[in-house]
Amino acid sequence: MSPMATLHYSSFYICSALLCVSCLCYTLIQGRVARRQNQLYILLLLNMLFCALSNIVVAFFEGKFGTEAHLIADTARFMSIVFHASLTPMFGYYVLLVCGNAWQLSYRGLALYALPFIFTELIILMNPLTNWVYYYDGTFQYCRSWGVYAIYLVAFFYMLVGLGNLFRYWKAVTSAKRNALVFFITLVAIGVFVQITWQDIQIELFTDALAGLGLMLSIEDEDDRIDMATGAYNRRALSFDLKNFITTEQTFQVIGVRITDMASVHRVMGSSASDAFLRSVADYLRTLLPPYCIYYANPSTYIILIRGDDENQAAEIASEILDRFDEKWNGGKVDSLLHAAVTRGSSPKNFPTREDVLFMADSPIPVKEKKKVLAGRDLSYLLRRLEVERALHRGLEERTFEVYYQPVYEMPSLRMTSAEALLRLHDRVLGNVPPTEFIPAAEQAGIIEALGDFVLEEACTFIADGTPDELGLSSIGVNLSVLQCIQPGFAKRMKEIVARYGVDPAKINFEITESVAANDYNALDAVIRDLKEGGFTFAMDDYGTGYSNMQSIFSLDFDLVKIDKGILWSAEKNSIGRAILDNSVRMIREMHRKILVEGVETEDQLNLLSKLAVDYLQGFYFSKPVPKDEFVALARSQHESSHTMMIQEAAP
Ligand code: C2E
Ligand code: CA
Ligand code: CA
Repeated sequence: MSPMATLHYSSFYICSALLCVSCLCYTLIQGRVARRQNQLYILLLLNMLFCALSNIVVAFFEGKFGTEAHLIADTARFMSIVFHASLTPMFGYYVLLVCGNAWQLSYRGLALYALPFIFTELIILMNPLTNWVYYYDGTFQYCRSWGVYAIYLVAFFYMLVGLGNLFRYWKAVTSAKRNALVFFITLVAIGVFVQITWQDIQIELFTDALAGLGLMLSIEDEDDRIDMATGAYNRRALSFDLKNFITTEQTFQVIGVRITDMASVHRVMGSSASDAFLRSVADYLRTLLPPYCIYYANPSTYIILIRGDDENQAAEIASEILDRFDEKWNGGKVDSLLHAAVTRGSSPKNFPTREDVLFMADSPIPVKEKKKVLAGRDLSYLLRRLEVERALHRGLEERTFEVYYQPVYEMPSLRMTSAEALLRLHDRVLGNVPPTEFIPAAEQAGIIEALGDFVLEEACTFIADGTPDELGLSSIGVNLSVLQCIQPGFAKRMKEIVARYGVDPAKINFEITESVAANDYNALDAVIRDLKEGGFTFAMDDYGTGYSNMQSIFSLDFDLVKIDKGILWSAEKNSIGRAILDNSVRMIREMHRKILVEGVETEDQLNLLSKLAVDYLQGFYFSKPVPKDEFVALARSQHESSHTMMIQEAAP
């Protein structure tokens, strides 16, 4: 053959080789080498590259005169067949790895899987003696023997294993991966079919290499699985991988690492510092575990998944992580201690479903006095939380939510002027669940909006029946969760509800707790403005708890500030507390906001407050939150007695 003809003849192989080299370079540049799947993929590329190169050598030396040329061509062909026969078993195993069930294959299973492959390799290796696979005729022409068909049969077998496995674990693989695998198996099958039917079209390796390129672009590509800020896998990846592990019935260990003070770090040190802290935690975790075990699950929680049932190893890793939090972390310009809660459990034992792991990632973790990894029975808080969530759903279905009212009194007259609506849940299974427990659970379960609507509707029903007006109450306070406020369409819905009941929005005073993450301020500000334009009034709740960012708080347009009971109670105890209360009152006054002090329980507290410029009081001293009827009775009796007092005073 002329050089041109040779080139022509081997063009498919040259293209295959180029494809393989490109894929190899790209894969290595991207550093996709950590997982078993990545490593097998690289081996596949190397294998195909080797086959392509040997076939190019065959094309160059075949048909040339001389025993040397013949020997080279023959050796190259032999090597290419030896390697090529291992391609489909590797492909098949790659599919098992991607589906996630290769991990369950025992050594016996693996040996069984490899048996047909070993058989083909044996007949190829024996070919120089037996000519079972191929031989050369009198004119040194390459001819196939029955062995070639046996090899193809085995190749089909492995394709079928791959395909069968894919169908069996259809749900364990994402649809993108699934489609890529189907595409890849089809392409390889077409190549084999063409090659077996038309010997001269040397297309098989080329279709293999094309399929390899497809794999690189779809399956090996993990960009959409990576969290840019931390370099760990993102929540999407966590969710997919959990689904995969659970559908393929694997046992695995779960470690949760929650940085509990991330919100305050964010607020105090800013977002670049908190990003840097998160990154340094991720970097540290990568020194303990391979990168593919680490997931960044929610704004401050890492989840680690370790395959297998070695609970001791997981326990050791978990306590090592917890210990690391005794030292400072690097936050870019500053180093600081961070606080962490570490949880550990295994699936399916502690976490039978994917939702259980995600639930753990999202649920607040109870604070323990003693530093300790929460595992085993300590995880019962998750069960309680789950039960509360069920109670919430029951509550909505069976209408066991009730709104209580707690009166608010004006200073200095101590006349009842308004009331706060407080939600109660009377569950038939759990009994009375406190709102401090069910409100966060409702936020997490995504039903806080339904609860918020319910409270507003109840308050509107109350106002619409005229009783509050009759009793001289100017407004009803309705608590809002920040999560609820920043939902799209929130303001519009609130307006719709009051309009439906024909209630004047000025009679609704929304209360919002100040513990808002800094980046929510803009959204919240827009909602408050919108509703205030609609006539509603707003109160800042729980002033003095959490980390107040004064400027941001006061840039929100509140009418009233409710000073938290903690401030009042410490003012009673010591002079520092007293100074804080005095200064808070003075400062809020200067900002021209009305002031309410919560948690008045005793006469002494009342006396203390009467010396300060406070507008309203609320607390158990006057009344606990009570059911509506009880509240109305109380308000009526106080209204009437103040009425008689006024008449008596007016009398000569
Ligand atoms: P909050 O808005 O600060 O409500 C005041 C809480 O303090 C109420 O607790 C009330 O019973 C309690 N309290 C009032 N006066 C005193 C007192 O003198 N001493 C003591 N020790 N406590 C007093 P409650 O009803 O358990 O509510 C707890 C929190 O749950 C509320 O705090 C509020 O943040 C949330 N919450 C209650 N109802 C709703 C609601 O409908 N929506 C939302 N988003 N949150 C709600
Ligand atoms: Ca409140
Ligand atoms: Ca409060």
